[in-house]
Amino acid sequence: MATLGKPQNTIAILQKYNFNFQKKFGQNFLIDTHVLDKIICAADINGDDFVLEIGPGIGTMTQYLCEIAREVAAVEIDANLIPILADTLQDYDNVTVINEDILKMDIRALVQEKNGGKPIKVAANLPYYITTPIVMGLFESHVPIESITVMVQKEVADRMQVGPGTKDYGALSLAVQYYARPEIVAHVPPNCFMPRPKVGSAVIRLTRYEQPPVQVEDESLMFRLIRAAFNQRRKTLANALGNSPEIALPKNVIEQSIAELGQPATVRGEKLTLAQFAELADLIYYRLRQ
Ligand code: SAM
Repeated sequence: MATLGKPQNTIAILQKYNFNFQKKFGQNFLIDTHVLDKIICAADINGDDFVLEIGPGIGTMTQYLCEIAREVAAVEIDANLIPILADTLQDYDNVTVINEDILKMDIRALVQEKNGGKPIKVAANLPYYITTPIVMGLFESHVPIESITVMVQKEVADRMQVGPGTKDYGALSLAVQYYARPEIVAHVPPNCFMPRPKVGSAVIRLTRYEQPPVQVEDESLMFRLIRAAFNQRRKTLANALGNSPEIALPKNVIEQSIAELGQPATVRGEKLTLAQFAELADLIYYRLRQ
């Protein structure tokens, strides 16, 4: 039975193993059954699913996942948690705990082995210090994924979800929205965790698109343009692109392409939508091939 969501049960396990929280691993364990129910519900898991959990901690959410999913793989970096997980997950025969750094793992190989290469669901209360590399790594390495439902810092959830014209809009918004439809499903205050984080949190579900919402000839060029535009977001788009060593394009190519996009020379990158970045990338791509 999933019992760890109750604070007194989490405290009992922590005391039994004399566990010391490691700040460097972003360890804030969930102690709220309502929040756990919300994550599980938003992740929309059924008995056919293989679920990857990143950072199981003492196994609180893992227990919930094991109750519903066909199979769960839980990747945990902290070796001190492995004996605890062996204890808290002893009632389940559908879980594999892997003591590794998620950023160094070959997740595609895991999905091939455990799910025959078919799309998986990811669920996690993420370590906040590496949220962006984890989420972008999952998308960019083309791991077959149906959805990612994760707890992240509230500001990061906002950044993933917003469009142009807001202060939170940036390279992360565009990258996430190229791969997935984002939807914030819950806001979670610090008192739902042990120890309490200094920041507010949110659960966000990212539903992977089968086809990206925009077509672009050179995906890598588009993402280089996006990164360059937001690396110097207070500058005009033309200057930000012109200053970027990652882009290395003649000034006239940049200026003519922005004009052809129908934008003024003074436009900033933060005004452009994903579709406009894709169009700009194509304009530059074709101009360079002329
Ligand atoms: N899922 C648990 C819960 O909700 O109570 C713990 C969540 S805690 C915010 C993040 C977890 O990720 C910790 O257990 C931490 O040790 C683990 N972690 C941190 N960095 C990791 C990494 N690079 N690879 C795998 N796990 C990691």
